Amino acid sequence: MANRTVHRKAKEYRWEGVDELPYKEDGRALFKSVTRQVLFSDPELRGELRYFEVAPGGFSTLERHRHMHAVLVLRGRGHCLVGTEVRPIETRDLVTVPPMTWHQFRATAGEPLGFLCMVNAARDKPQLPSAEELAVLRRDAKIAAFLRNEPA
Ligand code: MN
Repeated sequence: MANRTVHRKAKEYRWEGVDELPYKEDGRALFKSVTRQVLFSDPELRGELRYFEVAPGGFSTLERHRHMHAVLVLRGRGHCLVGTEVRPIETRDLVTVPPMTWHQFRATAGEPLGFLCMVNAARDKPQLPSAEELAVLRRDAKIAAFLRNEPA
């Protein structure tokens, strides 16, 4: 990130001096149409603030990890899975993802879903569900529909 104290908005949901990055370098993870921008990352801060944007119909990785997420939806709408809960989300909603909780964010078909996500700067690597863990999640009809991109 450029060494300066003010990052001005460049255009809608993009910031001057902030690169638009691939969502993940991890080839194991299943996701669709997501970009990542690291807005704040400084050793003096123990956290990082990132902006993710999920294109219409796209989704983040279904994963869990020991670190937490604090999410603020900035644009669009969609659904999230947090633990065993599937919830509709829209602009300005707050979502907390506790440690070791399965989570995924999905954008609606019509518009991008953009959200800020605060995390610890030092954090553990996400775990992906095993086939068995996925089968257990899918036993819940609401979660199964969410994973088929057909939320109720
Ligand atoms: Mn995560």
